[in-house]
Amino acid sequence: MEYTTVGSKRFIAGAVCPQCKAADKTVTFAVKRFIQSQEQELVEADDEIMACVSCCFEQSKLELSAASHNTGGSQDDVMPIKIRDATKSTSSTS
Ligand SMILES: [Zn+2]
Repeated sequence: MEYTTVGSKRFIAGAVCPQCKAADKTVTFAVKRFIQSQEQELVEADDEIMACVSCCFEQSKLELSAASHNTGGSQDDVMPIKIRDATKSTSSTS
């Protein structure tokens, strides 16, 4: 991934690298990079990179949002489905 760093790197407190699982080694910084537009042209866009200083992990925020757009929601907020007992609403048998 080629980009020009425009901001200073900031550590994300408590973040764990998805690749090497190291805690507090993940930084985020603003970049400018060229992405391909819908017209197949290269356009300069603001992006944000999440990177690990402990391994070679890099994650583009633009690519991440584009990927999660297809599934229609953020992948971090997975709500567990609670299966309620159907007989609980009419529990007046005691
Ligand atoms: Zn890592």
